Amino acid sequence: MKTAKIKNTNKELPVQKIVCVGRNYVEHIQELGNEIPSKPVIFIKPTSAIIYAGEKIIYPTFSQDMHHEVELVLLIGKTIKNADRQTSEDAILAYGVGLDMTLRDIQADLKRKGHPWTISKCFDTSAVISDFILKSDYQLTLNEEIYLKVNGEYRQKDPFTKMMFKPVKLVEYISSLMTLEEGDLIFTGTPKGVGKVNKGDKLEAGIDNLVSLNCSVE
Ligand code: MG
Repeated sequence: MKTAKIKNTNKELPVQKIVCVGRNYVEHIQELGNEIPSKPVIFIKPTSAIIYAGEKIIYPTFSQDMHHEVELVLLIGKTIKNADRQTSEDAILAYGVGLDMTLRDIQADLKRKGHPWTISKCFDTSAVISDFILKSDYQLTLNEEIYLKVNGEYRQKDPFTKMMFKPVKLVEYISSLMTLEEGDLIFTGTPKGVGKVNKGDKLEAGIDNLVSLNCSVE
């Protein structure tokens, strides 16, 4: 069973599901030529896709164009459904950084056909997660910056103030669509700068000095 590990403790929570948000930063929507949505775009990844800091992202044989997408990840700490703003805020237990690895060639083909994005998003090793910092230890202000480096060079770096739908709003919205449970993860979308990774690349991601991860592509 895949778990979310709490930073500076021995605690870990079994991950129940991974809910992902697409198109949540305007400049990223523009770089892929997509329309700005009036509501968050939502999809799901299986927990089998999870790997941890220090592990390897495996390039699937059926894609030539795997992209990095660095994202703030929320760890949910209680069961909620149709939650109001306060309940949604209280349900966020901890924050981490994650990579929503995406097969851009496969996704483009699926989009053209009007098919779900599943095959481009759900492969093994497509969800890399850091340890999670408890909200009780650090309250996110949204002035923090999220970053991703490939082979030591910054490729993505933006503050959370650029998110169209902020974390509490996302939790509130998702809870109107499905029950959220303790151990669920929410990937909150990626800022601009997504791009292809190659075998042998070393990736480093983080949020200020709060949480970080590194991994390589094989
Ligand atoms: Mg994403």
